[in-house]
Amino acid sequence: MTRPEGERGIIARIRQAAGSSGDLVVGIGDDCAVYRPSPGRLNLVTTDTMVAGVHFDSAWHPPLELGRKAASVNISDIAAMGGVPRFALLSLALTPGFGSEWLDAFTAGFLAVLSEHGVVLIGGDTVQSAHESVLSVTVLGEMAEGELITRKGARPGDVVLVSGVLGEAAAGLALCRMGLARDPGWQPLVGAHLDPVPQVPLGRVLAASGLVHAMQDLSDGLATDLAHICAESGVGAEVAAEKVPLSPLLRKAAEICGQPPLDWALAGGEDYQLLFTVGEQEVARLRDLVREKIGRELFAVGRIVEGDGVFLVEAGQRREISYRGYEHFR
Ligand SMILES: [Mg+2]
Repeated sequence: MTRPEGERGIIARIRQAAGSSGDLVVGIGDDCAVYRPSPGRLNLVTTDTMVAGVHFDSAWHPPLELGRKAASVNISDIAAMGGVPRFALLSLALTPGFGSEWLDAFTAGFLAVLSEHGVVLIGGDTVQSAHESVLSVTVLGEMAEGELITRKGARPGDVVLVSGVLGEAAAGLALCRMGLARDPGWQPLVGAHLDPVPQVPLGRVLAASGLVHAMQDLSDGLATDLAHICAESGVGAEVAAEKVPLSPLLRKAAEICGQPPLDWALAGGEDYQLLFTVGEQEVARLRDLVREKIGRELFAVGRIVEGDGVFLVEAGQRREISYRGYEHFR
């Protein structure tokens, strides 16, 4: 989780300066870059960096789970467009504190997730770092051109859906910070933070359905991620507070932490569930299809509207939450 304004500003500057080419289908500003290697086929490329002390804390993040997460968050970006992940590159800049025992466990976790998704590690780089350890992963994927789902394409009247309960990872992080990382009662939440699951099978079903208008993965929280879809699609959105799916365990953690549970869902981030929009008439059909193919339920949390911005509707009040980070909800 970086400073939203800062990160968006930097991306906008680079995006403006970068060029384009004829076979580039999607450039900067989506979950993956997409290009056409041959007619009808698309290749997807995504990269992500994790910095010690910023994106992970080795005090409570065991190397095996960290390796898994480094792979999963990148594979999630392929899932977010409906693609099939195929190959990965791993670059490590490690401080002397990260020894061979750490590296073996990290690598085992990283390779285990790749193997769960049929992804092959094909290269990378390792260097020494003086101050902080930095983990950088690139994943390549592919799919048929007709099935690609981008962040563009959401239309007024669409229903906004998510693929699972939200806020779990943020609650897990809060519990880790309170020294409860190893408390067995909190494992579902702690596990959501340490070892999130990329939604590849669901992404494939949604892409093949042809029913989804826009999609991305939930990496920065519903408020920010839905704002990305709205900005790219030229629409606004309303989220119904009472529809946001929250687990009973998350509500219990929120009580202990003195935290409104909804804040974790809206602004916490790192859930890596899928967020997507579908025409109202197609929602029932899509729900049936997803149940039949992979036995999963979908949660409708709001609606796409004309205009711009993301609004939370709670107890009859409507307030803007576009790009709101954690601290804005206090
Ligand atoms: Mg993403």
